[in-house]
Amino acid sequence: MIKLHDKYFKPFLGEPEIQAAVKNLADKIASDYKNETPIFVGVLNGAFMFVSDFLKQYQHLCEVSFVKLSSYHGLTSTGIVETLLDLPENIEGRTVIILEDIIDSGRTLKELVHLFSNTHVKEFKIAALFYKSTTYNGEYNIDYVGIDIPDKFIVGYGLDYKELGRNLKEVYQLNQKHMINLVIFGKPGAGKGTQAEFLKERYNLKHISTGDVFRYNIKNGTELGALAKSYIDKGDLVPDEVTIKMLEDEVDKNPGASGFIFDGFPRTTAQAEALDVFLASKDMGINATIALEANDEVLTQRLLQRGKVSGRTDDQDEDKIRNRFDEYNQKTVPLKTYYEGQGKFHSVNGIGEIDEISLRLAKVIEEL
Ligand code: AMP
Repeated sequence: MIKLHDKYFKPFLGEPEIQAAVKNLADKIASDYKNETPIFVGVLNGAFMFVSDFLKQYQHLCEVSFVKLSSYHGLTSTGIVETLLDLPENIEGRTVIILEDIIDSGRTLKELVHLFSNTHVKEFKIAALFYKSTTYNGEYNIDYVGIDIPDKFIVGYGLDYKELGRNLKEVYQLNQKHMINLVIFGKPGAGKGTQAEFLKERYNLKHISTGDVFRYNIKNGTELGALAKSYIDKGDLVPDEVTIKMLEDEVDKNPGASGFIFDGFPRTTAQAEALDVFLASKDMGINATIALEANDEVLTQRLLQRGKVSGRTDDQDEDKIRNRFDEYNQKTVPLKTYYEGQGKFHSVNGIGEIDEISLRLAKVIEEL
């Protein structure tokens, strides 16, 4: 086990395995291109070690160059790709083979393809040492793949966590054992969002509120927002397949989180089951489900009050509020039995001062 900044990583791929994959790639590409002089283009910073070892194994004429893009800041993919070091010159009519250390979502690759569009190269090929087939969006064909890896955050052999770990000869994966994953549960107005803010700070967790993600998408006019809007406006639940996919994407955007607070998810048994399967596929699991309990009269008053301040239309109309309570009673209450069956259900009195309720929650977590 090694520690980089605040996180622990455990061994994942040893040097011999990596070197065998590099040699294999070099041999395959050589058999296709040994009769010409391709230009290998390494993608900095991550690919420097791969490019170096690859070229030592490539026994024929070739040239080498580098480009530099950036899409990861720390562990979180921001989705922003910048060009920091531009195209090599005189590539017109030449075969260009990109050497990427890792292909993950495919965002960086899209930018690379864009960078080389209109360059009139003879052929444009992509070789990736590590490839996450389960997260790749599949937009472009990957011509040469070294090792197909599961969706883990990895460091070493050129790859970093906040710039550390690049010099390791082996590859390590993030150790998820220290994670705390919580489901915060309760009717609309129970204080889930407020208490999630407290828990997030206290335990350094990533807060995912499905309601907030939907509202963000509606505000920004996305396809997902358009899909969800009619349901939310009526106080109905958004269909499971939409919500589950969205939740999984949110978790995937934070591969290095110390844990998650799921707020407003799951709300149906199908969502709870999907969450268990999804987390298990990542060596993760729910530690506890905490329900904030309050009666309907108190909740209705809180929601109407919030509706005045936030402008949320689903908080301003008593019929819609009642419909949300009905949805909760019918679809979400059965989750209590689901989590009780797993011994993970904890109930907390949600009436009182905010700080007082926070202390009740902290007590549950610290006793886990
Ligand atoms: P909230 O902010 O959690 O009260 O959520 C607002 C609305 O978003 C809900 O009334 C639903 O229409 C929708 N929504 C949020 N989370 C879910 C979920 N897990 N499943 C289905 N719909 C949801």
